[in-house]
Amino acid sequence: MAIKALKGTKDIFGDEVKNLEKIENIIREVCKNFGVGEIRTPIFELTHLFQRGVGNTTDIVQKEMYSFIDKGENNITLKPESTAAVVRAYLEHNMGENAQPTKLYYLSPTFRYERPEAGRLRQFHQFGVEIFGASSAIADAEVISIAYTMLKRLNINNVSLHINSLGGPQCRAKYNEVLKEYLASKKDLLCPLCNERRIKNPLRVLDCKNPDCQKLFVDAPRTIDSLDKECKDHFELLKDLLTKMDIPYIVDSQIVRGLDYYTKTVFEFILEGKNYSGTVCGGGRYDRLVEEIGSKPVPAVGFGTGIERLLIAYLEENKNLELDKRDIFIGYRGNLALEKAVVLVNNLREKKFNADTDLLGRSVKAQMKYANKIGVKFAAIIGDTELETQMLSIKNMATSEESKVSFVDLEAFLLNN
Ligand code: ATP
Ligand code: MG
Repeated sequence: MAIKALKGTKDIFGDEVKNLEKIENIIREVCKNFGVGEIRTPIFELTHLFQRGVGNTTDIVQKEMYSFIDKGENNITLKPESTAAVVRAYLEHNMGENAQPTKLYYLSPTFRYERPEAGRLRQFHQFGVEIFGASSAIADAEVISIAYTMLKRLNINNVSLHINSLGGPQCRAKYNEVLKEYLASKKDLLCPLCNERRIKNPLRVLDCKNPDCQKLFVDAPRTIDSLDKECKDHFELLKDLLTKMDIPYIVDSQIVRGLDYYTKTVFEFILEGKNYSGTVCGGGRYDRLVEEIGSKPVPAVGFGTGIERLLIAYLEENKNLELDKRDIFIGYRGNLALEKAVVLVNNLREKKFNADTDLLGRSVKAQMKYANKIGVKFAAIIGDTELETQMLSIKNMATSEESKVSFVDLEAFLLNN
């Protein structure tokens, strides 16, 4: 039997890869505008890093990791998220000694053993940003602005920004007690996993995907009611800066995020689409994570977003990303014309035009059909007359309009059209 790609994985090619490339280009441009540099970390790390960094009571660590023992008996895991890996790299290379803050972004394959469905793969790609060394809410606002700017440039408008604050460790301790009490009062209605978690990590319960459980959380105590003055001021400054930057938001006490390491700000951009609804981008502040993985505390804030979900979100509102068209196809009739077509196309490519010719020796009719299929802007055929007059008759494939252009003026024509 023919071998197929594994469940939850996919080959990306054709229009999809072009669409993804466009998204990636916008991401890289936005990061450049915000002074965020790229980091590429390995695809696998010691399992221990994610157990410590993501948290032992999270879905990711409990259920979703691709872990294995390698030939050197190391316990290895394919990256289920990149923040822990970026923190490891930040510490390993003493980036805190450079000018602060350290602003990094990644675009990385990510692996989670989940049940595949729309917008949920086992190998997907994440884009994320991390800012280390800034504890002020100015950095939280900047991180949110990066995600917002990217969504706007992608013309993804049917998303709303939900923000919340979980507070620092003291506020969390106070809140956990109130929440534990509330959850205990609902224990007969909660799913078994929630009942297991409500003792060990009550906040994690609020992240349960079970809709019956979610209904019970509408009236749960809110983290923002347990904030101390410092955390409250932090949240106020964030809200103020977002308002000043014209970034609309909703304060949503149900946003707690799926990872253990968040403190203070948490946020999600939630898509309300016709075909897909759900979170496309999530993040927050994680002032305790660096200390958890390394030695000294370093404030940090960031977000992660699934590229495939960005594409779904994009296609909800926009027909298709406008694809780059190859500029010109030059076909031929006869051997002399073939040589001329190959030389012309080659010259154009050297000058960085997108040019193509026929590699299969097809009839003129079949060549034009091919030109149509690959989606070029212009097409022309070289035959005896063209060789004699040194002129091409160039067809605009969208309008069918024909232009007479001499071989030597070809570049000028393409530049001007
Ligand atoms: P979900 O609630 O959908 O499981 P999550 O809270 O696990 O998401 P994060 O860990 O915050 O997601 O990852 C950030 C982003 O990565 C998500 O908002 C989503 O866009 C994307 N993402 C997460 N899991 C998958 C997956 N299995 N397939 C594709 N994209 C994913
Ligand atoms: Mg998940």
